[in-house]
Amino acid sequence: MTQPGARFRTIAAFLLAGVLMASALPVYLAAQVSRTGPPPAAPKLEKIKDDLYVIENSDVSRDALTYWGGNATVYLTNEGVILVDAKYARSHDDLVAKIKSLTDKPVKYVVLSHNHADHAEGAQQLAAMGATVMISAADRENLALAANPAWLPELTYIGQARLFLGGKEAQIYQFRGHTRGDTAVYFPADRVIALGDLLTTTPVLPPIVNYTDGGNWVDWDRSVDEVLKMDFDIAIPGHGPVVTKAQVAEIRSKMGAVQQYVRTMNREGKSAEEIAATLTKEFNFTPFRNQIPAMMQELR
Ligand SMILES: [Zn+2]
Repeated sequence: MTQPGARFRTIAAFLLAGVLMASALPVYLAAQVSRTGPPPAAPKLEKIKDDLYVIENSDVSRDALTYWGGNATVYLTNEGVILVDAKYARSHDDLVAKIKSLTDKPVKYVVLSHNHADHAEGAQQLAAMGATVMISAADRENLALAANPAWLPELTYIGQARLFLGGKEAQIYQFRGHTRGDTAVYFPADRVIALGDLLTTTPVLPPIVNYTDGGNWVDWDRSVDEVLKMDFDIAIPGHGPVVTKAQVAEIRSKMGAVQQYVRTMNREGKSAEEIAATLTKEFNFTPFRNQIPAMMQELR
């Protein structure tokens, strides 16, 4: 029989491990900010359509990525803004200034693509300004798993939702892959889709699945295949420049090949180091830290 004290320690260690794992990515992304010197160049505002803009890092370094966070999509209507993703809290002032340069209308809705801090942390400040923040029910649960979450979004959905504002429409779709409840936001009038971290297009952060938050590659494949059936011209990734639908298909097939290499090398008994070296050589794919051992667990 286990002594109560030992049992408590086991549970505490388990909980601590869970908390550390659940927040591994955001913590890592935030950790780099214990930096000296001025912050990296501020993000840029990029016009995609007359009423649709992306706030995107102006340089592609990992330093800028870890400081400013993910892309934010700004959809303008005459009754207010629909925003996809809220970046880090530290990015809030820059984000709001860029939105104000486009419209004097308020941010009415913030749709979070997933629960990671580089996309979601700034939502609390936007809610305090009056915005309604929504996220999939599954990824709200991910947020709620953090130790003493300071704040949680008030609105969730399961499967699909529609937002109507100022005579315009945003269609919200739940997927899985990067996390268990990724959200894509489709703007039918503009034929543009914002995909969060289901898609990344920068070499410093290739597509990644977060197993602790319920992501995996089988779901990622299925989700991106579903996305590719949709009627869009431009995809906005979670990190990196916007791409065409054809480029999304290229990334999908490259990641399919990466997975196949991992499976094959796994079966040949290759080590994580050997697999990582091969992926870098064959695909210029430099996986995010700890991704290879986790991929080897899934892809056998
Ligand atoms: Zn991200």
